[in-house]
Amino acid sequence: MRKTVKFGGSSLADSAQFKKCAAIIRADEARKYVVPSAPGKRFKDDVKVTDMLIRCYDIQKKDLDAGLEYFSKIEDRFDEIVTGLGLDYSLEPEYRIIRSYMEEGLSKDYLVSRGEFLSGKILSVLLGYPFVDPADYIIFNSNGVFEEQKTAAAFRKIADMESFVMPGFYGATETGRVKTFSRGGSDITGSVVANGMHVDVYENWTDVSGFLMVDPRLVENPQPIKEITYSELRELSYMGAQVFHEEAIFPARAAGIPINIRNTNKPEDEGSWVRTDDQISDSHLFITGVTGKKGFMSLSFEKDVGGDRLPFGRKVLQMFEEAKVMVDHVPSSIGTMTVVVDVDEISGKEESILRRIRREIDPYSITVERNLALVAVVGLEMRGVVGITSDMLRVLAEGGINVRMAIQGIKEISLIIGIDEQDFERAIRLLYEFAKAKNKELRP
Ligand code: ASP
Repeated sequence: MRKTVKFGGSSLADSAQFKKCAAIIRADEARKYVVPSAPGKRFKDDVKVTDMLIRCYDIQKKDLDAGLEYFSKIEDRFDEIVTGLGLDYSLEPEYRIIRSYMEEGLSKDYLVSRGEFLSGKILSVLLGYPFVDPADYIIFNSNGVFEEQKTAAAFRKIADMESFVMPGFYGATETGRVKTFSRGGSDITGSVVANGMHVDVYENWTDVSGFLMVDPRLVENPQPIKEITYSELRELSYMGAQVFHEEAIFPARAAGIPINIRNTNKPEDEGSWVRTDDQISDSHLFITGVTGKKGFMSLSFEKDVGGDRLPFGRKVLQMFEEAKVMVDHVPSSIGTMTVVVDVDEISGKEESILRRIRREIDPYSITVERNLALVAVVGLEMRGVVGITSDMLRVLAEGGINVRMAIQGIKEISLIIGIDEQDFERAIRLLYEFAKAKNKELRP
């Protein structure tokens, strides 16, 4: 058994947290490939090292001396960790290199990635595992897009390594330019390492004991999810569940590697397991989760298209694509094409898209509806259960909530319901109560 273990920022916030991680790694010899984040918050109003580095970049761009002075605060955070761990080790040579690059002019991604780099250096000394720089193995193209095939080929060069520490969050282009993933991207590195090293399990250590059936800010003490499939998680994280980076699902999933979300502060908890649809056990919940998000709007275009519906739909979507606006849903009927988008996504572009559509497609009518919220009920096993959709809609109707839109994909893994924003919290609570009761009934 071989595992990749990724530790998030809160798991590495200070020397006491580093000690916990080292104890976890030493407790199981399968924990071979370690992926650290940069130190996160030690207390509520603390600043993450990654945020300090972003700040440092902005300062040094305007005023080098002020930037170098601010960088010494970041050095202090790392030095405190090294001292607290009692290591006979100094990061001074690394700081010197970073400082000299700052003097020469460096890229934002390079400086921002140094949090993970320095974290990894410490952890490698603490564990006695070799340090492997992801800049040599996690490959991006010149546009900053992750290169799956080239990365897989690069990992073949280290296939024989027994163990290592590889910092999360970044890689580099083939010409050596450091590139970071999006925020929270060390989860992606963990998944890429799991895939590249063909491990049996990807453990993702964070500060919660896995996923909950519903947002604990909306419902008191929600039930934990012991097991979820990749496809269910995809539906849930898309709607705003925050524990695990959305894009981190793909590399592990492609290799069929289960992910175990664990709590560094409660290592005895089993956490949540993410598995492929055909790996699920009897304990799998019928309804896995209820989630949702406010801040959507819909734009409907009506046109008398006769038999020629195909180009109409394509042209409407093309206008959104060309404006680089991601479309979330397209719940349409014959002659009316509706596009649901996140308000933040379309912000500043709405007028120009509508203008183009009027000019180039000339719909018969355009209707824009705002203040829309989407709620999703997710469960792989809902498929084929007669009446489950109408039961959920009835729960909302009995609660006096108007359903403005309902989308169920043919795979029946989720039901997505569009409601007024003002009904959001109540809809989530009602559907959670329904899900809990259904799970009890079907999984006593
Ligand atoms: N340190 C990076 C961030 O704060 C990446 C990560 O922690 O996953 O976003």
